[in-house]
This record gives sequence, structure tokens and C-alpha cells, in this order.
Amino acid sequence: QSIEVSELISSVAERMRKKAEDKGIDLKVSSSDNLVLCADGARLEQVLVNLVDNAIRYTPAQGHIELRLRRLGNFAEIAVSDTGVGIPKEELPHIWERMYRVEKSRSRERGGTGLGLAIVKQIVEAHGGTVDAQSEGNRGTTITVRIPVSN
Ligand code: ATP
Ligand code: MG
Repeated sequence: QSIEVSELISSVAERMRKKAEDKGIDLKVSSSDNLVLCADGARLEQVLVNLVDNAIRYTPAQGHIELRLRRLGNFAEIAVSDTGVGIPKEELPHIWERMYRVEKSRSRERGGTGLGLAIVKQIVEAHGGTVDAQSEGNRGTTITVRIPVSN
């Protein structure tokens, strides 16, 4: 399947915008390049929805979420940044594990089973890509996925 990534990002952003705005969170997209991936569109959409869903869930009102797309060498790099509660450094390596939930956000926010990021990682790696998380505790989180482009 040939997937135009910026189109997919825009459509996911439109779908999730109401949920974000209902919580008082601003959702913005900045994608420069037109990038085509040979990927399973439904699965890739699931990756984006899971990441935006987390960003909304773990970001308080007045916050901001940004979806960025750029080409990095032979990869499409998609980054989802938020200004939310963040993830403590010592927990960062574990968030990709099935059922893992950070204690702080678990007590603060209900809902969720801890499967979202495990699924994200599985899908991205099945496309030959990589996942990465960065967070400054309390100052927000950026999740980055890189997937090889087809040309
Ligand atoms: P599910 O996605 O299955 O509904 P979940 O969101 O708790 O549940 P994951 O998406 O796998 O599970 O995320 C694992 C844990 O990582 C979360 O419980 C949360 O503690 C932390 N986390 C994930 N994304 C963020 C984020 N953007 N900001 C802060 N913490 C996050
Ligand atoms: Mg989740």
C-alpha cells in the first residue's frame, strides 16, 4: 500500500481535534514534505491515533500538541509532542512494555490498559522502523517514530 504520510497525519488530526479541544488542548500539524511510505495504512493510522490519544490523555487543559513530519535520510520521521505531565527518566525505557503504566499518571488519570505503546512499537518495527521517547518530567513528552520511505 502506498501511503501519503502528511495526508494521513492531517486526517488523524482532524479526527482527534474535537477530543483535544473538548479538553482545552490545542492540536497542530506541521508537515513539510510529501512523503510516500509503503505501509499498511490502517496500522499506521492506529500508530498515530494511539500517540495522539496518549498526548491528549496525559496533557492538562491549556496544553499544546504538535504533530510534525519530516524526511530524515531514508526515513519519514513523525514526532508527536505534548506539553503534558511528562514521563520520569527512569520510567522511559519501560513505557513500550505491555501493560506498563507510569504510577503517577495512573493515579492521576483513569482509563487505559497500557497496551497502546506496545502496539505502536510492534507496528513500527514491523515496517522496519524505530521508536523513541523523550521527556523532561513535567515539561511534556515527545514520541518519535521513524519509518523507511519507499523511494
Ligand atoms: P492504552 O493506550 O492501552 O489505553 P495507556 O495509555 O496507559 O493505555 P500506553 O499508551 O502504552 O498505555 O502508555 C504507557 C504509559 O506511558 C501510560 O500509562 C503513561 O503512564 C505513559 N505515557 C504514554 N504517553 C505519554 C505521554 N504523552 N505523556 C505522559 N505519559 C505518557
Ligand atoms: Mg495509550
